[in-house]
Amino acid sequence: MKAIIIGGGIGGLSAAIALKRCGITTEVYEAVKEIRPVGAAISIWPNGVKCLNWLGMKEPLQKLGGPMEFMAYQEYVHGQTLTRFSLDPLVKSVGERPYPVARAELQDMLIDTYGRADIQFGKRVARIEEYNGGVRAYFEDGHIAQGDVLIAADGTHSVIRPYVLGHQTERRYAGYVNWNGLVAIDESIAPANQWTTFVGEGKRVSLMPVAGNRFYFFFDVPLEKGLPEDRSTAKADLTRYFAGWAAPVQKLIAAINPETTNRIEIHDIEPFMQLVRGRVALLGDAGHSTTPDIGQGGCAAMEDAVVLAVALQTNSLGVEDALLRYQEKRAWRVKDLVLKARKRCDVTHGKDMNITQNWYEELKSETGERVLSGMRETILGGPLE
Ligand code: FAD
Repeated sequence: MKAIIIGGGIGGLSAAIALKRCGITTEVYEAVKEIRPVGAAISIWPNGVKCLNWLGMKEPLQKLGGPMEFMAYQEYVHGQTLTRFSLDPLVKSVGERPYPVARAELQDMLIDTYGRADIQFGKRVARIEEYNGGVRAYFEDGHIAQGDVLIAADGTHSVIRPYVLGHQTERRYAGYVNWNGLVAIDESIAPANQWTTFVGEGKRVSLMPVAGNRFYFFFDVPLEKGLPEDRSTAKADLTRYFAGWAAPVQKLIAAINPETTNRIEIHDIEPFMQLVRGRVALLGDAGHSTTPDIGQGGCAAMEDAVVLAVALQTNSLGVEDALLRYQEKRAWRVKDLVLKARKRCDVTHGKDMNITQNWYEELKSETGERVLSGMRETILGGPLE
């Protein structure tokens, strides 16, 4: 069996590694010559970590991950701790720990595991077609690829999604802007072994440790879409939006490098249940675009990859049947993740400020139990024990 994989991001490469591992011939086509991930880092939760472990990356991943042992919320004006708790009970109950990692390093690990020379960069698919017994992809440079199955891992702006769904989809603006980047760890901003989040005014400022003595930081601000802001104005914008916030937040703003700070208007797509058509499967953000509010978009792509590879390897009624089984296993799971993230997004970002204020109040009496039990449920919904 030969699989054509469109997209060399987290989803496409996880799928390529998984299929290869299951003895399936793979060809990976990536539109750009050099992948530049949209964000600086990503938290891989234990459900995603287990998928990467299964794909043979346990040790390299451990080297990339930061020592995130505690979680804390801080009040925004004085920086007082609202709640702080260990992540250890979560790790013990799900059997694996989370790893915040720099994206460029994750991307390199995936590329190295699959084989850099085996990825065809600079190949942008324009359209696909199925014929009796196979599927073809037509590229903008005139190249044509042919296989038994095609995996569309071409991201949130997928050109293959309309083929599968039979209609276009709209991206939905989630109502907030996210700035993110990496900065050297400074323990006067936050402890080096903790995921620290300052909350107030429907905004948040968060820091997670990644390997190499760096914090992954992000700032979220509810804003209208399309403001004339970019990297060149980042420091001034953040200084304005976070005026009056606690000293560690001001220190962080002073420390960031605007040249490497990303500014992203956060979107998702209304979930849909159709992930496959014939010999074509949507995977990763192509099949489910979520806001990053529960940090599960990339993890879900890793889960897709594992489930898809196992379905193709273990079923003998043909590719179309295996893809339907993949859809059956994934559609509810990914819909649930997108909707959970949307709900979290609205509470965190002050869609209704009364609800957000109540959440700030609840944090004062949070022991960790409620937060960790929500995370546990999400993590245990993954495909690996
Ligand atoms: P992409 O990463 O978008 O990759 C798609 C690839 O396809 C790209 O390389 C693109 O160049 C290529 N491509 C596109 N069109 C074509 C074409 N026509 N032909 C060929 N190739 C094509 N997830 C988590 O799990 N944890 C987190 O903490 C987390 N934090 C996030 C924070 C932010 C601010 C954002 C925006 C997202 C976050 N996510 C997180 C989500 C995660 O980044 C995505 O879910 C993940 O990157 C999706 O991977 P993908 O491979 O499906 O898509």
